[in-house]
Amino acid sequence: MELFQLTAHELHKKLKSREISALELTQSVLGRISSVDGQVRSFVTVTNEIALETARAVDKQIAGGGDVSPLAGIPIAIKDNMCTNGVRTTCSSKMLENFIPPYSATVVEKLAEAGAIMVGKTNLDEFAMGSSTENSALFVTHNPWNLDKVPGGSSGGSAAAVAADEAVLALGSDTGGSIRQPAAFCGVVGMKPTYGRVSRYGLVAFASSLDQIGPITKDVTDTAILLGAISGKDSMDSTSVDIPVPDYTAALKNDVRGMKIGIPKEFFAQGVRPEISEAVMKAVEALKALGADYKEVSMPIMEYTLPTYYILAPSEASSNLARYDGVRYGHRSKHSSDVMSMFMKTRDEGFGAEVKQRIMIGTYALSAGYYDAYYLKAQKVRTLVRQAYDEAFEEFDVLISPTAPSVAFGIGEKANDPLEMKLADVCTIPVNMAGIPAMSMTCGFYDGLPIGMQIMGKPFGEETMLQVAYTYEQNTDHHTMKPGL
Ligand code: GLN
Repeated sequence: MELFQLTAHELHKKLKSREISALELTQSVLGRISSVDGQVRSFVTVTNEIALETARAVDKQIAGGGDVSPLAGIPIAIKDNMCTNGVRTTCSSKMLENFIPPYSATVVEKLAEAGAIMVGKTNLDEFAMGSSTENSALFVTHNPWNLDKVPGGSSGGSAAAVAADEAVLALGSDTGGSIRQPAAFCGVVGMKPTYGRVSRYGLVAFASSLDQIGPITKDVTDTAILLGAISGKDSMDSTSVDIPVPDYTAALKNDVRGMKIGIPKEFFAQGVRPEISEAVMKAVEALKALGADYKEVSMPIMEYTLPTYYILAPSEASSNLARYDGVRYGHRSKHSSDVMSMFMKTRDEGFGAEVKQRIMIGTYALSAGYYDAYYLKAQKVRTLVRQAYDEAFEEFDVLISPTAPSVAFGIGEKANDPLEMKLADVCTIPVNMAGIPAMSMTCGFYDGLPIGMQIMGKPFGEETMLQVAYTYEQNTDHHTMKPGL
């Protein structure tokens, strides 16, 4: 095995015992990026120099005999919508193509303190709007399992980077599925934590009441480690919650005896392909054989979540994206004679089609006379979704469903069919609306492409989710499969 192929917890042992150095490991990962990223195209920016410099500093610290944190020396990729001080942060948009933030996101700071090594910034759908990374204004990322397929999105670059061993770990953001769906398509583990668990300070806002940052990793243990490192209250994000951060690795028990699993039947309808339902139910049967119990449950409100999301998310986006006016930072049109035309041309040149469409829909839904009919109504549906989950969690410890209705689709296949594309998120969107945590892991393969299973948990129930995921992983071998790049 090459170093770049290993997980963070495996590498930590080697770093701690000084069998390897952080510099060797970083060089191995950077070497992997230069040999495969020409095909996969995960990275918008590779931070070679910074990575090598940090690795040398970490090695000095380790040599000094200090405590070696679980992330010290571990190469990580960051989605390019999280601010990195002095390093270009584009959101894969022409609007921010040359934007260099003067500060770092809280999660980036926390990782730096833990000694993690940022190797680069990864591609995404422009401003995280999309499900395939095809909406990136810069270039398209390819699925490492089959280069003709999309890696999913919007955190497609982060998921592809981890799947292709171009990073040991990655961070993504998830507003309606953007961590879990690409994790499913690329055969890695991805978790959207409970809303408020992780600070969003420095994450470029898309839909603030839905956005959350989370881990994308090669296995469940690494997810537990990375989640612990980024969680916690932050005075810079008033929506972050002051609940103590547990040691998530303590939840990694190979045991699901007595666990109650709910199977929400609406998540298996709505265009979910039979090969997906079959693989997920086979995984549920495997958990049953290990001592868990499962039962079908009906959550009829789920039928309304997709249309409701497409009112809420664009509404918040239209407000959040109002700041890109060419005045303070980002793109400014060179072709304007007065301030009004400067605003208009800047936004016309800087935003891509999908972003413009959402700003228009959102502005419409928030307009006087339409607000009650759309935004307010959508908020009411949202309350019902949360209630449906609360009710289900009175009976069940976790809910299990497919992460996405199909395996990764072809590049270009859905690009001209926005509705089809949006249907790719039916299983993930309800989770953001309710603010609960959920994760995706591989439960099989179809046509050489990974199938994702989604585990949903109670608010701040990440530990239970991790325990179920870990038990499944320890008793199966999907996570040992690698794409043949
Ligand atoms: N695909 C969904 C959208 O386009 C979700 C994106 C996300 O989670 N950032 O809105």
